[in-house]
Amino acid sequence: MRVNGIGVGRAVAVGPVKRMPDPLPEPSETATHDGEDAEIARTRSALQQVSAELTDRGNRAGGDAKNVLDAQALMAEDPTLVDDVIARIKAGRTGQRAVHEAFLEFQVMLVGLGGYMAERAADLGDVSQRVIARLTGVPAPGVPESDKPFILVARDLAPADTALLDLDKVQALITRDGGPTSHTAILARARSIPAIVGVGSTDELTNDRMVIADASDGSILLDPSDDEVADAKRRIEERRAAANAPITPGALADGTPVQLLANLGSPKDAAKAAELGAEGVGLFRTEFLFLDSSSAPTVQQQKEQYVALLKAFPGKKVVVRALDAGADKPLAFLNDSEEENPALGLRGLRVLRAKEDILREQLTALVEAAKETEAKLWVMAPMVSEPEESEYFTSLAHELGVEVAGSMVEVPSAALLAGQILETSDFVSIGTNDLTQYTLAADRLLASVGHFQDPWHPAVLRLVAEVGKAGAESGKSVGICGEAAADPALAVVLVGLGAKSLSMTPAALADVRAELLTVTMEQAQARAQAALRASSAAAAREAASAAAEPANA
Ligand code: PEP
Ligand code: MG
Repeated sequence: MRVNGIGVGRAVAVGPVKRMPDPLPEPSETATHDGEDAEIARTRSALQQVSAELTDRGNRAGGDAKNVLDAQALMAEDPTLVDDVIARIKAGRTGQRAVHEAFLEFQVMLVGLGGYMAERAADLGDVSQRVIARLTGVPAPGVPESDKPFILVARDLAPADTALLDLDKVQALITRDGGPTSHTAILARARSIPAIVGVGSTDELTNDRMVIADASDGSILLDPSDDEVADAKRRIEERRAAANAPITPGALADGTPVQLLANLGSPKDAAKAAELGAEGVGLFRTEFLFLDSSSAPTVQQQKEQYVALLKAFPGKKVVVRALDAGADKPLAFLNDSEEENPALGLRGLRVLRAKEDILREQLTALVEAAKETEAKLWVMAPMVSEPEESEYFTSLAHELGVEVAGSMVEVPSAALLAGQILETSDFVSIGTNDLTQYTLAADRLLASVGHFQDPWHPAVLRLVAEVGKAGAESGKSVGICGEAAADPALAVVLVGLGAKSLSMTPAALADVRAELLTVTMEQAQARAQAALRASSAAAAREAASAAAEPANA
């Protein structure tokens, strides 16, 4: 039996399923307990057990994770909180309700304090869920633990879950919700975890059932035969070998250079990207640094992060994107209004413009950081939708000392007016994730319309072609920094449409580098033209692949 979803990456994984428990329902407000003393003892014991379990997990995890888990272990035994829980039990609440209420009140207070304290509120919520799970006899939420490798099946994953995954154990992710360019999928790709998202129903994927998850076609094979397992293991080995091929600068078979750059969300990932042969950074998502911050980071706080990033790429180009806040990445200090359709709202450059002080501080921090390093800093604005916005951003950036300032092309209007945008922008970079979402009018986070979120769609490719043409006419650089660049076959088509650089999650660099070396520019253009003439994403894929066949085959 097979279940299908949307594959992220091209890797294959084999292993037993482990399901991530769904979030717990809120404990009943009206339920009562059988006796105060017994309820207090039971609750104290659950708090202590959770604290011990978190300490133990921290000791095993080490590093940054240990600090987070140790702090959580302390929260579970915090005397003020424990007293509050006991007082609520004495007032008639069940242990689980008392824990829910006491922890929630504390969380609200932390959020009110702002800054570092507010960032701990989510950790407190996680502790509370673990204690409630113990008291109600259900599995604790969060990534399950196991001594053996497994394939994680979840409704969806929070970025924090993805960041803490133990990659020795988690071989692949399968999620019921999410699209191929949701930020969960992006983080999975960044950590080289094969993922299949938007599966719809995961009911068949029960605990311990063996599966083969193949991200290259988004399929999950249940109860595979020995031959099928052997075949999957052979493919896993082949990929390992390809990843070890020599690292050369990106180029086509005829020597045409195609700069291969990294998409990064933290300076911590910079060294690994350089090791994998990234020739610089094509997209640094600065908003990922501040997702948990309730107040705007200071110039100094930002500068430290940017220096750490730029130092990893001496002499190389590093394209930093100004904060792209809104929609699926709201920042508390930028997005404070409720919007019915946040993807179409005050996001990206629009909100930075409304809060120009924050934009000015970010640009200042970047300029100061660049002065302390050897990297070549380029800065670009997210969600530019018309030439006037490009002019606004680039003139402000130049005024504050940014030497190279550009615009992202993620909205169809920007693609159609790329020529005019390039009159003021020093370069453009196409964000195919949002460009696809807005061209096909399909929310990139919504599994029900996930099949529209396919950058192979000829309508998207036509817009890319427009930008490529404008780039050639102006002599300015056109790059791609959406997930499309990480698909080797599509990367060839994008180069055929005029992209001069491709930026992707570092894990994809080896596959894309290898594929580019198999085609000349003439062949890349032929494949691009074939894809442009198609009338669906699937047909474009097929047409490009047919154009790749030798004429006499
Ligand atoms: C994009 O939209 O393609 C892009 C690169 O930006 P993000 O995925 O961060 O929205
Ligand atoms: Mg985008």
